[in-house]
Amino acid sequence: MVNEERLVQHFMKMVEISSPSGEEAAFRDYLRQYFSNRGAICVEDQAGEMLEGNSGNLLVRIAGTADVKPLMFLTHMDTVFPGGDIKAELGDDGIIRSAGKTILASDDKAGVAAVLEAYETLRENHLDYPPLELLFTVSEEQGLLGAKQFDYACLNAEIAYALDSGGAPGTIVVKSPCQNEISYTVQGKAAHAGINPEDGINAIQIMAKALVMPCGRLNPTTTCNFGIIKGGEARNIVAESCYVKGEARSHSRAELDQLTMQLKQTFCQEVSKNGGQPEVVVKFLYPEISLDEKEKVVVLAKKAAQGLGLKVELVSTGGGSDAAIVNGNNIRCANLGTGMSNVHTSDEYIKVRDLVDDAKLVLAIIQQYLADMQ
Ligand SMILES: [Zn+2]
Repeated sequence: MVNEERLVQHFMKMVEISSPSGEEAAFRDYLRQYFSNRGAICVEDQAGEMLEGNSGNLLVRIAGTADVKPLMFLTHMDTVFPGGDIKAELGDDGIIRSAGKTILASDDKAGVAAVLEAYETLRENHLDYPPLELLFTVSEEQGLLGAKQFDYACLNAEIAYALDSGGAPGTIVVKSPCQNEISYTVQGKAAHAGINPEDGINAIQIMAKALVMPCGRLNPTTTCNFGIIKGGEARNIVAESCYVKGEARSHSRAELDQLTMQLKQTFCQEVSKNGGQPEVVVKFLYPEISLDEKEKVVVLAKKAAQGLGLKVELVSTGGGSDAAIVNGNNIRCANLGTGMSNVHTSDEYIKVRDLVDDAKLVLAIIQQYLADMQ
């Protein structure tokens, strides 16, 4: 039922609408027009103003033909740079690539195209479907910023699917970590390095001593990193301050909390012991995804994928996604693999076959959801 030619054309048209993070307005307008023409209700939130971008998140409410709880789909409108002037090209090998030196933007427009094609297919075949809540976010690539601004209280869906993971269609992300950003600062005291070094407290040296903290993979589901270091003003000045920015991730919130406390304690102890002043700032970036394979959101996607003959793989990832934010707001959300490959590079591509399977999968999930509700 999915119309391959229409889907491919539509996908190629949408990747050519420029929408780098913070500049999604043109693509938002395109989607708003598309859905308004079909009688759906489109609501844009305030995220654009909050984030100083030119578009907010776009929520599209589609009335179903059946009176059941809505089902939610989640994709992001923004793309990474270089995202302007994308031209897509379909090769004889059935693969869509960017014709120039830009990304292709299948991340996440493959997901968007799949959702739109599934909806189109439902309409043209006069099929029954549940009410749909479609959320198109902004600035996902900047750290899930749009999804974090959205007010989830206005949604009625209890389960959701994001179409924003690598892996072939049939891939279902059931676990991903929660993350803290952690900034460590040592405050020392400046002095001339040659004339009176004894009057100074060298923050760089104290930082070095404090970096006995754990780093790297600590166990299969917990990691920790120091990613940026800055300090000192000049060769001949005892370094007054030193700063390290790092992170910690874990699939378990309790472990993340425990690790963060341990990092903080070790850092503060070492710095104080060596005569510096420690400061640690912790910022919680996003919650974990932890879905049970027996719960509805997973079972439904599995059933739909298997019905299409797709190979189902339940996977765990180390990265964050809008799906994590949705999960943190009490909507069970699984992230689905779309087949997008080499994303964020000019070698990005997607197979037409995967794009078609994405649309078929969305359609199958919608139909299975309705069948299960009735
Ligand atoms: Zn993405």
